[in-house]
Amino acid sequence: MAQQVHDLTDTQWAALIDQWGGCAYCGAPGPGLQKDCMLAISRGGRYTIDNVVPCCRSCNSSKCNTELTTWMRR
Ligand SMILES: [Zn+2]
Repeated sequence: MAQQVHDLTDTQWAALIDQWGGCAYCGAPGPGLQKDCMLAISRGGRYTIDNVVPCCRSCNSSKCNTELTTWMRR
């Protein structure tokens, strides 16, 4: 099993939320925003600032493991 690297700090996470202003997909301001990987962990993505966006629970559950580009094309 490949070791996963999670180097997203709380500070980076807070900056991301501030940058996006809420859910990256629908704009919901939260609360309850979750870390969502643009490239899914199952596809080799990692929890880094380059790969994580804020995502509300409803978007996260509807998106599941679908890759971001695939999901947005629907
Ligand atoms: Zn959303």
